[in-house]
Amino acid sequence: MKLLDGKKLSEEIQQELTQRISELKGGGKNIPHLAAVLVGNDGASETYVASKVKACEKIGIGSTLIRKDASVRHEELLSIVKQLNDDPNVSGILVQLPLPKHVDEEKITYAIAPKKDVDGFHPVNVGRMVKGLPCHLPATPYGILLLLEKYQVPTEGKHCVVIGRSDIVGKPMSILMSRNSYPGNCTVTTCHSKTKNLSAICSSADIIVAALGRPEFVTGEMVKEGAVVIDVGITRVPDATKKSGFKLKGDVHFESVSPKSSFITPVPGGVGPMTIAALLTNTMNSSMLDY
Ligand code: NAD
Repeated sequence: MKLLDGKKLSEEIQQELTQRISELKGGGKNIPHLAAVLVGNDGASETYVASKVKACEKIGIGSTLIRKDASVRHEELLSIVKQLNDDPNVSGILVQLPLPKHVDEEKITYAIAPKKDVDGFHPVNVGRMVKGLPCHLPATPYGILLLLEKYQVPTEGKHCVVIGRSDIVGKPMSILMSRNSYPGNCTVTTCHSKTKNLSAICSSADIIVAALGRPEFVTGEMVKEGAVVIDVGITRVPDATKKSGFKLKGDVHFESVSPKSSFITPVPGGVGPMTIAALLTNTMNSSMLDY
């Protein structure tokens, strides 16, 4: 079993980006800038946004955090997005989800200029991803591709089972793994909450991507000997021994799955840090997209 070390690779990518930024600075060129919009004060959202802004600062990408109260009006949020679209100094925009119920989440995310949509959620980016055209790929699946590539994990002709079909992880992951490219060229089975015989499907998989948000759902008996296992899940489970009062659990039961796997991502230190690296890469590359 080999660990797919997302923490290490994320640090390597961030070092490369730091170098590219300092070259831009040295040449008097514009520095990429990420604008993050955070609405309300949900603990998990605060943590995610803070870690993204901190990562930008660390590597020299400019960042702005725009905070709004949970009572913000839909129109006000829309106008913030429009201002950021028009601001030539802003290269990437992210609106942290979920948004409060009274705000139309789709309208807000679809208002972001596709070129600045570093989360890769806009239908233009989704369409371009499906077609294999240059675009912002959604950060978590993109981070997983970078990890598979770094460790030269063979994917061609493999059976990849993706558990979960959300717009941000499962669905794009299934599409990316079936594309005619590397990593890709898999035969993909997408599983979800209505899938029957999930255990049997998993046990025929060469590659499993678990993105369902159910702690330790994938257990050793569901996994074939030598399978590659990517654990996307992060669920906070109460733990009185921790200062925070919780610990993070993945969707994979690491103890029983890791001895059978050829490659596996740990939680934490696997997919999570790669999501950040992918977001920074998207922000860095925004200026190279011509749509
Ligand atoms: P989601 O709730 O939007 O989607 C979950 C999906 O899992 C759904 O498609 C659902 O059909 C499927 N599902 C639920 N229960 C199932 C079951 N019993 N059997 C089969 N399928 C089932 O979640 P999401 O946003 O895709 O996130 C999934 C997990 O990944 C969560 O734990 C989330 O916190 C984590 N996540 C991690 C990162 C990261 O950077 N590491 C990024 C995004 C999401």
